[in-house]
Amino acid sequence: MTAYGSNPAASPPGHAKLARMNDIHACPLPYESLLPVRLPEQVDLVVIHCTELPDLATAREYGEKALYDSGVGNSGHYYVDRDGTLLCYVDPLRVANHTRGFNPRSIGIELVNTGRFPEWFRSDNQVMTEPYPAAQIDALCDLLAILRERFPSLKLIAGHEDLDLAVVPASDDPSQSVPRKRDPGPMFPWDAVTKRVPLKRWAAP
Ligand SMILES: [Zn+2]
Repeated sequence: MTAYGSNPAASPPGHAKLARMNDIHACPLPYESLLPVRLPEQVDLVVIHCTELPDLATAREYGEKALYDSGVGNSGHYYVDRDGTLLCYVDPLRVANHTRGFNPRSIGIELVNTGRFPEWFRSDNQVMTEPYPAAQIDALCDLLAILRERFPSLKLIAGHEDLDLAVVPASDDPSQSVPRKRDPGPMFPWDAVTKRVPLKRWAAP
């Protein structure tokens, strides 16, 4: 058990959340100012991702890569490391490129987790086995509580795997197909998170 979880009576409700708010490290991506701005009321959805990379430093390298003519790349707004460290790469009042088709309305949160790295699309490497540590999930729940206060229109939570159902040819056997996105995957504790934060899990219409 973490200190936060083991003795809730020691802190008034909201204490951990407030402490955490001061603890979100702002590390804007170099192209942040090129991303479109939006109004808070446009945000009704948070999308949970995992990096499918070995560590935060590698995730940062991927996030910094300019991939589009406008000079911007792909990233979440927030990153949560395995030890619960919270970082903000893109201001949530800007549109980040994290889930195709859903970016203008959503906030993307990336959890550091190996996922299928480094053979994401191999047919025999589709099982995601790394657990999400309690410290990481505690930090995520605190972040979600902070975001609910800042964005009153935020009502829904989805996994990237719920929103991007595309398949791609397997890298080792193009006659087979594998999901393009599986994150955050079966190790993510949906029940525990949705019990702690009143957001409704996305259901396909
Ligand atoms: Zn994702």
